[in-house]
Amino acid sequence: MNKRFAMIIDSAKCMNCRACIVSCQLTNGVPPLSYRNWIKLGPWEGGAGVHFQPGNCMHCDKPTCVEACPTAATYRDEKDGIVKVNPRLCIGCGSCVPACPYGARYRHPETHIVDKCDFCAGRLSIGKEPACVETCPTRARVFGDISDVSSTVYSLLKGKEITRVVNWKTNTDPAIYYLGKTSPVDWPVEAEPPGAIRMFRDVFNPLLKGVVCLSGLGVLVMWGKQLFSDEPHHPAPSDEDTGKGVDDGSHNDQAP
Ligand code: SF4
Ligand code: SF4
Repeated sequence: MNKRFAMIIDSAKCMNCRACIVSCQLTNGVPPLSYRNWIKLGPWEGGAGVHFQPGNCMHCDKPTCVEACPTAATYRDEKDGIVKVNPRLCIGCGSCVPACPYGARYRHPETHIVDKCDFCAGRLSIGKEPACVETCPTRARVFGDISDVSSTVYSLLKGKEITRVVNWKTNTDPAIYYLGKTSPVDWPVEAEPPGAIRMFRDVFNPLLKGVVCLSGLGVLVMWGKQLFSDEPHHPAPSDEDTGKGVDDGSHNDQAP
């Protein structure tokens, strides 16, 4: 059975020590001034004090970054729900970067290949947790398979008040869940699909729908004509009718 990896974050436990960011940079070779994960700061909803909101790629069920990628380098792995980047296919065009409403992607300044959180794929492959989860001293980040009813993440989600930080215009169906109430701080922003994709959506999609509708209508009209036609149905002429392929004995197989 396929897994569905997700992260549950209790922002009330985050004290902004940033250990998760440092461990991520070191584990994944993230260059200076680029990030795979972050802590957003903002006021508590309706209350006093500061709200620390940890985040990273949301490993969305409907990822706009996947749609934006022209080479399929970015894809959602159906085996575990993780949205991944295949560096061999990435041409560094950067289309996926603004297409993510969470700002979860960056282009490597030297290789120009796009990178982002992959839940520490290398660590997962040897049975370890993502580095940020293991490092967090207050266990504000919890990781696991939410399709496994015996997992900690499953029991954390069950019957609890959960918030997902969702863009009202582009709901990508994120797989990062926040325990309790958390308000979007300065994200997610509106996803910016690349020009070609935007044009396809705005112009070609309606045109394509129109063509499909017209062809469907044409087929229906033909069926209708056949159904209500008074003309008798003529069978195709047989070989006997046409004289083709019938041996009349006029040829001779023997040499003279
Ligand atoms: Fe893609 Fe952004 Fe969703 Fe991550 S958060 S899967 S980069 S759209
Ligand atoms: Fe970084 Fe791994 Fe945490 Fe993702 S899961 S933010 S890659 S440490």
